[in-house]
Amino acid sequence: MHRLKVLFAVVVIFFSLPGLALDKKPLAAYSREAWTTRDGLPHNQVNSITQTPEGYLWFATWEGLVRYNGQDFRIFTPQNIPALQDHGIRDVSVGANGRLIVSTSRGGVSVLQKDLWRTYSQAEGLPQNETMASIEDSQGAIWVAHESKGLSRIDAQGKVTVYGKRQGLPSERMYAVFMDQNKIIWAGTSTGLVRIENNRVQSFSVADGLPVGAIYAIMAAPEGGLYLGTHHGLYLGRNGKFNKITPDFPDEAVISLDLDSESNLWMGTVNRGILRYGRRGLESLDAKTGLPNNRVSSLFNDREGNIWAGTNAGLVRFADTPFVTYDNYQGLSDNYIRAVAQTNDGSVMIGTSRGLNRFFEEKITAIADNPSLRDDAILSLAPAKDGSLWVGMYSTGLLNWKNGVVHEQVMPGSPLYGTQVRALHEDRNGNLWIGTSQGLYRKKGSELKRYTEADGLPRDFILSIHESKSGKIWVGTSNGLGFVSGEKAGLIDISSYLSSQDVFGFSEDPDGTLWLATDRAVLRMRNGKISAVGTKNGLPVATIFQIVADTYGNFWLTSNRGVIYIKRSEMEAVADGKSERLNAISFAEADGMASAQCNGGAGPAALRAKDGSIWVATAKGVSVVQPDELSRYQLAPPPVVIENVMVNDQIADPDGELILPSDTRKLEMAYVSLSYRTPEQIRYRYRLEGFDEDWIEREQLRNVQFTNLPPGRYTFKVSAAQRGGPWSPESASLKFEIKPRIYQRVWFIPLVVLLLALFLYGLYRARVRQLEARELELSGIVDDRTRALSDKNIELEMLNLTISQQSEAFEQQARTDSLTGLPNRRSMDEKLQEAFKTSVKNDQALCFGLLDVDHFKQVNDSYSHEVGDQALKVIAETMKRVMGAEHAGKWAGLRGDELTARWGGEEFALLFPDQDLESARAKCEKIRVAIQAIDCKSFAPGLKLAVSIGLSERTGLSHHEKLASIADVKLYEAKRNGRNQVVG
Ligand code: GH3
Ligand code: MG
Ligand code: MG
Repeated sequence: MHRLKVLFAVVVIFFSLPGLALDKKPLAAYSREAWTTRDGLPHNQVNSITQTPEGYLWFATWEGLVRYNGQDFRIFTPQNIPALQDHGIRDVSVGANGRLIVSTSRGGVSVLQKDLWRTYSQAEGLPQNETMASIEDSQGAIWVAHESKGLSRIDAQGKVTVYGKRQGLPSERMYAVFMDQNKIIWAGTSTGLVRIENNRVQSFSVADGLPVGAIYAIMAAPEGGLYLGTHHGLYLGRNGKFNKITPDFPDEAVISLDLDSESNLWMGTVNRGILRYGRRGLESLDAKTGLPNNRVSSLFNDREGNIWAGTNAGLVRFADTPFVTYDNYQGLSDNYIRAVAQTNDGSVMIGTSRGLNRFFEEKITAIADNPSLRDDAILSLAPAKDGSLWVGMYSTGLLNWKNGVVHEQVMPGSPLYGTQVRALHEDRNGNLWIGTSQGLYRKKGSELKRYTEADGLPRDFILSIHESKSGKIWVGTSNGLGFVSGEKAGLIDISSYLSSQDVFGFSEDPDGTLWLATDRAVLRMRNGKISAVGTKNGLPVATIFQIVADTYGNFWLTSNRGVIYIKRSEMEAVADGKSERLNAISFAEADGMASAQCNGGAGPAALRAKDGSIWVATAKGVSVVQPDELSRYQLAPPPVVIENVMVNDQIADPDGELILPSDTRKLEMAYVSLSYRTPEQIRYRYRLEGFDEDWIEREQLRNVQFTNLPPGRYTFKVSAAQRGGPWSPESASLKFEIKPRIYQRVWFIPLVVLLLALFLYGLYRARVRQLEARELELSGIVDDRTRALSDKNIELEMLNLTISQQSEAFEQQARTDSLTGLPNRRSMDEKLQEAFKTSVKNDQALCFGLLDVDHFKQVNDSYSHEVGDQALKVIAETMKRVMGAEHAGKWAGLRGDELTARWGGEEFALLFPDQDLESARAKCEKIRVAIQAIDCKSFAPGLKLAVSIGLSERTGLSHHEKLASIADVKLYEAKRNGRNQVVG
């Protein structure tokens, strides 16, 4: 049913020449295609049809909602969409933002927007009643027509208001609901029409001109007002008055309505199939003339101008295609067509496998005047100058027919009787040439002359006859090209041209150039020279039955694979050898041919009529094309949607941007063009931006696979083109990103560099320690050598150079204890020596302390060596801290904390320049107390540290080493005295 067409007015211009031409096409001439459950529909009754903005068609059936993309049906039922509460779908319509409103029979209304379903049923406050139809109004509210409980309005917040008899409805039995251009709601009931504007209900009935009974369908009339499909025909309502459309309109229930692109009104009826009302008056189509069934529940005009009809026995698509096919629905006695010819009165005579037919003024009449004309297979036809028609038959020979009267007929006994008469031609002298399966005959009055192989013809089996402009009779046989010139017959060997053998047809240009249709090629004979155009030149098929040049000189070739259109310039260029390939356009079923299989071997099997139209004999009717109108059928490039994305064989949601993991091996996209006219002819191309430089053409392929794409950001684009048409400019696209693997991430390289740097630094440190040891060793050597080799200056200098280079760089390290970071014993020795000298020189005090950790062995033993190390570190830190704090100023350029050292093992040294024993003792006491207070729980729970310190003073001592040895003695004393104390 047609709804909200007004809201959803999609302006798509598909035809370059819209207008009168369309009026030429009668309803019966629309090409029809039908689908049933055998083709994938879940049920044969299609209750309603609509199209969403992206182009999908939707069908409401008793066994589910169906989405169609031109290629396959996708079925939605409660099994796969739990939001759908019933598989019986009554109606589909499109709301704002392209929302799909689905009326389920007993499950209320479900709204689909971008993969999200929302259902309104009893639980949401709808009456418990079957749903007939629903639409969305301009305020986002959904109006629901119930089978017997009136109308419900579900507002945008989900609040339900019910309209029944109390609100002014004439009946609560509803059939249809519709919103007009002025946003007024109209509803069809069993006893009249309802109008609702701003909550005000008004009803119309018999008194206003409506018929008794139900209003089944409502739509906007193009001239203003409403069309109503009623129980008693079609009505037009305007300004509150209703009139039946025409007096000749049958009293028939109209249950569905839609307008075609030319404003003809299509009506679906209960018992009479489809009625179309428009510029050609009232036309009809029913089960007898090509509909699957007479009950037409739904009609829909899609964006390409195809009309879809949902019947009780399947779905039908009507398309205005370049070809019109006439078959037995239009009255042909048989669908297998062998010959077509036009007589002087303009009739097109159609010879079928069972009888002769006449097409005149758009009507087909079977000729039943004579048993042969009615029952025999008509193989050949030839109009005669006197207006009569020669008819060649399969078994009863030949006859001459005019205006319902057979004037002449061969009788048993005649050599023609019982031979297959496959070709006929009346020449300029009035002779009739008769091509049979047993030779060629020339009939002059009643005199017959026979030509056979014996006379020079290539074969006795004759397929075609052509009289050239020069009067020569050309004869196509099953074994080559023959001719009759004067009384003589002859042949021209064409076997060297792609092994051509059967000559099925001729076409002659005004300049005498002859084109031959053969089983292997098209041959051009010009000035005695023959050239071939074959499949290697782009001919879609080798065997051509008939060649017809249209009024523009372009070629229409008939074949077993449809009708092929080739521009003359391209054909000539190939025949001249100037071009290798031509562009051929093939027309087949989707273009309106009932069958792409054309017939040949008798004829003429194709014809250019006086109006320029081209008639083609096929295995299913006679197909007619009007070359003048070809441009009208040039379809716009179709829109494309990406339907399915599979990542590693799993379905992915293609909405928004896809972020894919680094282990994405396989990515598969399925796309389709939502075009319904000639879906099988649509060509596709794609481009993966970020990967492909250019578009990649896919012909008819509707999917593409990518494997092992490197990480990065991509945009997949796909566009489509109709046969011979341009690519769609706006293409479907999908952005996605493949995440890099860990080593492919942005931060990975810097991290590796950092780690490498740390590693190198570690190596460097290790090397430094090594060098330090080496340096110590070397310095010892140097000392020795200095003494021993004092006169070997050069070597010494060189050695010194090396050492100084190394030792300078590592000076700092060489004097530092690596575990505690304190100056080492060597460093302290130097400082002590220096301090001793200074204190002697300046007569200053100087004290030196040795600190030993108490029971340190037990620390190692009861914890671990590591804990021992840690303890040494914290002791060192504590010493540094206290010494740093105690020495406010600097001594000899040294800070207080630089006056400590690791003396060795768990022994430390303390230097107190310019300090007397008392002052130094006080500082040592602070250190001892501080160390005792160290909290070791972070590395050795329960550990308590204590130290003993021995102190010495310079006064009276001769050498700095004495300071150390006395400090050591004092230390020993402290240990002996019970440890954890300062002695000195
Ligand atoms: P006392 O208080 O009488 O000095 O007892 P003690 O256990 O500290 O004395 P002893 O000299 O017997 O033991 C010293 C221990 O110190 C022996 C040695 O293993 C340990 N030591 C020396 N240098 C280090 C070091 O760098 N790290 C660790 N963990 N232990 C060390
Ligand atoms: Mg010790
Ligand atoms: Mg110790």
